[in-house]
Amino acid sequence: MSRIRGLKCRECGRLYPVEAIHVCEDCFGPLEVDYDYELIRTRISRESIAAGPRGLWRYRDLLPIEGERVVDIGAGLTPLVRADNLARELGLRELYIKNDSVNPSYSFKDRPVSVASSKAIQFGFDTLACASTGNLACSVAAHAARAGLRACVFIPADLEQGKILGAAIYEPTFFAVDGNYDDVNRLCSEVVDQYNWAFVNINLRPYYSEGSKTLAFEVAEQLGWRAPDHVVAPIASGSLFTKLWKGFNELRKVGLIDSLDVRMSAAQPLGCSPVYTAFVDGTETVRPVRPNTIAKSLAIGNPADGYYCLKIVAESRGSCEAASDPEIVEGIKLLARTEGIFTETAGGVTIACLKKLVAAGKIDPDEVTVAYITGNGLKTQEAIADHVVQPVRIAPTIESFQAALREREPALA
Ligand SMILES: *Cc1c(COP(=O)(O)O)cnc(C)c1O
Ligand SMILES: [Zn+2]
Repeated sequence: MSRIRGLKCRECGRLYPVEAIHVCEDCFGPLEVDYDYELIRTRISRESIAAGPRGLWRYRDLLPIEGERVVDIGAGLTPLVRADNLARELGLRELYIKNDSVNPSYSFKDRPVSVASSKAIQFGFDTLACASTGNLACSVAAHAARAGLRACVFIPADLEQGKILGAAIYEPTFFAVDGNYDDVNRLCSEVVDQYNWAFVNINLRPYYSEGSKTLAFEVAEQLGWRAPDHVVAPIASGSLFTKLWKGFNELRKVGLIDSLDVRMSAAQPLGCSPVYTAFVDGTETVRPVRPNTIAKSLAIGNPADGYYCLKIVAESRGSCEAASDPEIVEGIKLLARTEGIFTETAGGVTIACLKKLVAAGKIDPDEVTVAYITGNGLKTQEAIADHVVQPVRIAPTIESFQAALREREPALA
């Protein structure tokens, strides 16, 4: 018997076989992988997971891959850091940073792409592709290299050097599109109709998105098999946010955690905040916007899962927050200064929003809180280059050093 029942429409519930499809023919709702949790419950245990590989594939029983072969560049099991310095500064009792910026291609995208590329191989595709805001292109190109697949990646033309280089090094077929992400996505939706390629976040989206659940599984395991009280995570398309929620709920369904009472709060850049705006306006309709923000990895003006994010925020009694460009820079610097973690602009959004949520009383000081840091600061150097200390140029002599020290740090001299 299979633990995977097939794909299921989120809207009308129609069932589909496991194929490279992503929308319902009847109602155009998104398709989602449907599991037999009763069966999984009999197979999975905290012990079986602990005995598994040291990476995201330890949660394989809850991922949509059957058979042995997976594409693995070493994603997952990233640090969950107890952030006491930052907690003190914000006024929280117990705060953790899930530092997913240290995955092999330096963002959490390695999780969904590890799953999607494994599925692409099972389906027999020879080309892995994506419409990307940057990090996804890096991850797709890296996984394709590892798997011996061709890669074809599409990005908006105005991305940071770190993201362009971070993908280019793996030698994908690489297109920079004159337009924003929503233009890229529209183009790729046409490409997928004419070329038999595995677009990880289009025709393989139901499988791709499942990989993000491992960010819920890991946090629960690292907390000693319990869910946090409050989670703060960023939204671009909303895939990660919805899958964190699905992941925590699955843990309870299969009996790996006893109870679940997690509040889910969403973070967006103010310059691209369609979900936040709908939340503030008290409507379920997410109106597309034209992005203008330094958080380019979150610059999706028309988020596919925005509506579901709003429902999760409401159901979990969470909140939504948004951060301006200067607040994003401050957020990046705050995390670096307090915890020694260098995140990209998306992480700056998360930290800035965390700070605002605590200040506004939306996160209780006693809630065990986890903030998801999803990407690495070395990829968005442009955003902070003018906001960090410059080294003092000195001659290689003790006199020059001491003169400079007296000037810069009299207290130390
Ligand atoms: C892609 C991305 C996200 C969120 O993406 P979703 O489309 O909402 O799943 C968050 N942070 C970083 C750094 C990303 O690259
Ligand atoms: Zn449907």
